[in-house]
Amino acid sequence: MNRAWAAAAAVGAGAGLTGWSAFRSSSQVFGPFPFRGDTDAKVVALTFDDGPNEPYTSRLLDVLDDRDVRATFFQVGRCADRFPSSTRRVVESGHVLGNHSFSHAFSRYLTEPGQQREIERAQESLSRIAGVTPALYRPPWLCHWPWVLSSIRDRGLQVVSGTFGHPLEIFQPPARWLTAGAERLVRPGSMLIFHDGQEARGGPRGQTVAAIGPLIDRLRDRGFSFVTVDKLLGVPAYA
Ligand SMILES: [Zn+2]
Repeated sequence: MNRAWAAAAAVGAGAGLTGWSAFRSSSQVFGPFPFRGDTDAKVVALTFDDGPNEPYTSRLLDVLDDRDVRATFFQVGRCADRFPSSTRRVVESGHVLGNHSFSHAFSRYLTEPGQQREIERAQESLSRIAGVTPALYRPPWLCHWPWVLSSIRDRGLQVVSGTFGHPLEIFQPPARWLTAGAERLVRPGSMLIFHDGQEARGGPRGQTVAAIGPLIDRLRDRGFSFVTVDKLLGVPAYA
C-alpha cells in the first residue's frame, strides 16, 4: 500500500469509528448523552420506545399498572396520531411521555432542518393529544450526531440514551430470554430500553410484553425499585 492509500485508509477508518460511535448508547464523544442515572441506589428506569402500537401498548400498560410500576414511554408522533387514546393513557396512569421523533425515518437525521422538524412535529402531536409537552427526547437509533444534539438542546429538551434490554429484542425471541438477558444487565441507575413498537411500523411485540412482568418481579426480589427517567436524571419530565 502506498503512502497516499495508507493515509486515506486511516482517515476512512477514523471517520467510520467516529460515525459508529454516534450510535453507541454509552458514547459521549459528541456531548453529554446520559445512559444511566448517577446513583448507587437500587433503582432502575424501564423505558419503551416506538409506540404507541396496539394492542401491545395497552397490554404493557396493564402489566405495569397491575404492579404499580411507572415507566417512561418515548413515543413516535405519527404513532400517537394513530393511537391517541394509548398516548393519553400513558400520561393519565402516571407514566412519563417522552418524544422519540415524528416519523422515525433515518433520512430525517441527515440534515439539521430535517431533524428539527422531526422534533417539533412530534412535540405538536404529543402535546395536542396528551396535554403535556415532553422535556425528554430519545433520538431514534440513539443517533447523537452533533446537529442532532444541538437541535435537541436548542428546543430545551433533555437527550436520553439507555441500555438495550436485550440485543435481539427487535426479533422477538422468547420472553424468558428477554427477561433473563435484561436481569443480567441491570445495575443501579440503569435505564433499560425495550420496544412496544417497531420504528413507526408497529408489528408484534408480544414477547416483550410477556417479559416485563417477570422482569419486574425478579428485580423487586433483588431489592430494586422503579423510577421514571426524569426522576433518575433529576430533570423535569415536561416543559
Ligand atoms: Zn426507536
